[in-house]
Amino acid sequence: MARELARRSLPSGRTARVVMSEAADGDMAVGGPDDLLADRRSTLVPGSWTWLDQVHGTSVVEVRECGDGAGSTADAVVTVAGNAPIAIQVADCVPVALLGSDGIAVVHAGWRGLRDGVLEQASRALSAITDGPFEAVVGPHIGACCYAFGESDLDEMAELLSPMVRGLTRDSRSSLDLATGVEHVLRTLDTAVAVVDGICTSCDERYWSYRDTGTTQRQAMVAWIQPGPG
Ligand SMILES: [Zn+2]
Repeated sequence: MARELARRSLPSGRTARVVMSEAADGDMAVGGPDDLLADRRSTLVPGSWTWLDQVHGTSVVEVRECGDGAGSTADAVVTVAGNAPIAIQVADCVPVALLGSDGIAVVHAGWRGLRDGVLEQASRALSAITDGPFEAVVGPHIGACCYAFGESDLDEMAELLSPMVRGLTRDSRSSLDLATGVEHVLRTLDTAVAVVDGICTSCDERYWSYRDTGTTQRQAMVAWIQPGPG
């Protein structure tokens, strides 16, 4: 079932919380029957979620009150509002939460987003509404063990990010190490990585994996600011 990946007391006395769903919590993909999805969401985290129509891009939505901008075409969302859950859906891509001194972000970081700067854009948007330093929480995603990757795309990522993103699958094919790429970018943003969940969505049955099964089902990372202490 869903796990809390992080809970941080903020200087304002509020509490930032980050939760990750699992397959057992139900499909959090958008596009299915809305009432069922709304039930699943509210079971996990009550309140009207700001979810995104994700396109592996770099756009960021700012939420000023609960539910603002739900359905926007974007891959990251930031807020300083209390009780305003912000969410992204994933099945292999890396879910990342950024926690600032009094605001939060969630980011959908697949390889294209990583290449094109979605973490940088989210960090910039969060900087505009709250002070740093930022801490990052990296949720479950596909590991290098399972993420076979074409040589020319891998060369591009290694050149752009770091040679350390080159990995090997369990059957010794070239693969992309997304977590290493994410951690590299976060370092360039002076963001401490507080949590890295090492679970591979393809290896671990508790998660949906697009690479493994071609599924359209998704787990969600949800973050929100609780008005009081945690
Ligand atoms: Zn794996």
